[in-house]
Amino acid sequence: MKILDGKKLSQEIKAELKTEVLGLKKQGIFPGLAVIIVGNNSASEIYVKNKKQACEEVGIYSEIYKLEEKISQISLLALVEKLNSNEKIHGILVQLPLPTHIEKEKIISAISPKKDVDCFHPENIGKVFLGQEIFPPCTPAGILEILKRSEIEITGKDIVIVGRSNIVGKPLALMMINEGATVTVCHSKTINLKEKCLGADILVSAVGYAGLITKDMIKQGAVVIDVGMNRNDEGKLTGDVDFLEVSKIASAITPVPGGVGPMTIAMLLKNTLRASKTVSK
Ligand code: NAP
Repeated sequence: MKILDGKKLSQEIKAELKTEVLGLKKQGIFPGLAVIIVGNNSASEIYVKNKKQACEEVGIYSEIYKLEEKISQISLLALVEKLNSNEKIHGILVQLPLPTHIEKEKIISAISPKKDVDCFHPENIGKVFLGQEIFPPCTPAGILEILKRSEIEITGKDIVIVGRSNIVGKPLALMMINEGATVTVCHSKTINLKEKCLGADILVSAVGYAGLITKDMIKQGAVVIDVGMNRNDEGKLTGDVDFLEVSKIASAITPVPGGVGPMTIAMLLKNTLRASKTVSK
């Protein structure tokens, strides 16, 4: 059984990006990312800190906007507009969730599609559907990158994705189909989840429910990708998969932490470089 070490792979990618950033700087391109965080969500604060640190590691300029919980939608939209026209900023990311008085869709749609490095804008999601993405959505792209760099074939494989969110399950399904896989997407209304999971050559769980995926749901030798990020009673980070038991049956598995999470950040950096090259043209 192989542990798919997302932390190690993300370090390889960051080293490649660092070299690319140096090359861009020589051409007068200084990639920049702005991250907006609203309110005091401790999980979001950790994610934003990790993103800033990752930018520093590869030499990407970053600006963090930490806004009060009670900020108005108009003020937030005004900040997004300002960043849309800021030449030092090539990528804009609004950390979710947002407070309930703010309409998430309005904020996401206000980000220039050319700077939407998270690939949340409807125009960019539409491009994923067509297989013409400029910015592949970060978590699905991170999953594909883990599989490719680990030389795990996707074409022709039966893939089961548990979870149909707009940021993980649905775009991942489209990207896997575009890669030539046969994809089944499961969710909370799926009847007989176990039977469907047992058909998977590659099983991806993106639910947010610790212990949902147990060893009796895994085909011998399947590849298991755990996207879930859950906190147990001691505050420790765990995935959706019963790692100890499932790893006895799987041929390869991602750990949590150290699997999909670091790859998501690496893909965000990659998208920021892509954006800097496009905007600077
Ligand atoms: P989400 O929007 O809450 O979606 C969860 C999905 O799971 C939904 O489609 C839901 O079905 C489905 N679901 C819920 N209970 C289920 C059950 N008992 N059986 C089968 N399906 C079930 O979550 P998300 O934003 O996609 O995130 C999912 C998890 O991944 C979370 O733990 C999140 O923290 C983590 N995550 C990690 C990364 C990373 O970089 N590692 C990135 C993004 C998210 P319905 O649609 O029917 O409600």
